[in-house]
Amino acid sequence: MSRIAYVNGRYVPHRQASVHVEDRGYQFADGVYEVVPVVDDLLVDEEPHLDRLDRSLRELRIAWPIRRAALKIAMREVLRRNYFQHGIIYIQMTRGVARRDHPFPKLAQPAVVITAARRPRPGAAMMEDGVKVISVPDIRWGRCDIKTVSLLPNVLAKQQAREAGAYEAWLVDEDGNVTEGGSSNAWIVTREGELVTRPSGHEILSGITRRSVLQLVREEGLDFVERPFSLEEAKRAREAFVTSATSYVTPVVEIDEAVVGNGKPGSIAQKLYAAYRGYMTGAGATR
Ligand code: PMP
Repeated sequence: MSRIAYVNGRYVPHRQASVHVEDRGYQFADGVYEVVPVVDDLLVDEEPHLDRLDRSLRELRIAWPIRRAALKIAMREVLRRNYFQHGIIYIQMTRGVARRDHPFPKLAQPAVVITAARRPRPGAAMMEDGVKVISVPDIRWGRCDIKTVSLLPNVLAKQQAREAGAYEAWLVDEDGNVTEGGSSNAWIVTREGELVTRPSGHEILSGITRRSVLQLVREEGLDFVERPFSLEEAKRAREAFVTSATSYVTPVVEIDEAVVGNGKPGSIAQKLYAAYRGYMTGAGATR
């Protein structure tokens, strides 16, 4: 079955789906996006993802190009037309097409694109063996809380990770603290057994998976604290893991050349992965 995309009100074959060369997303990265996971045909955390989309748009003063209710219908229609069980819905909204000039255009109509992609679930091996991460300096701007398509530092970090045989790159700020991963949030469990992740703020994207996992952490009654942690502390940690819409809860067993804990996924990461799996097709799911 050929893939179908939604572009500004029309369902078009994916191969022909395109936007204008003067779209400000293309010219200036003047746009935002969301990735909503699809598991067993269900949308995971749809409302929180759309709330974050709304926030990103408001922060950049881009008007919604489509009503929220209509977007939800279009997401389901794209999913239906690209029939698959597991994957992602990708939504991108930009300030639209205008003659190239930095300030906001007066007349541009914001643009919306929705695509759907089949993706296998994260592999069992990754969950059972854990993954390796490398550290790189965080060279991003001061508003990482906005989910913009301006991802060049993240692209470079992920490429460096790929070339080092690592799954993810952890971004490290000028104080030596880990902000987050190139496309995930970072967590550790200290030697004292305290679960730690950096608080939401302008330095990180407030992950929807992070939010849901924090909810599960509270339900499980685990000790946790939101505070910055250093790369050195992470290397000495008992456990580490990352969360994102596509990697769920993925254990980290190596940071640079340091082995984390005993080199195997930790029990808290495993417990949270199991809880999150249940959540994805339970409380977090909508049809
Ligand atoms: N941080 C960054 C920089 C990301 O790109 C992502 C993935 N979109 C995340 C964190 C995790 O966010 P979420 O759980 O909403 O996928």
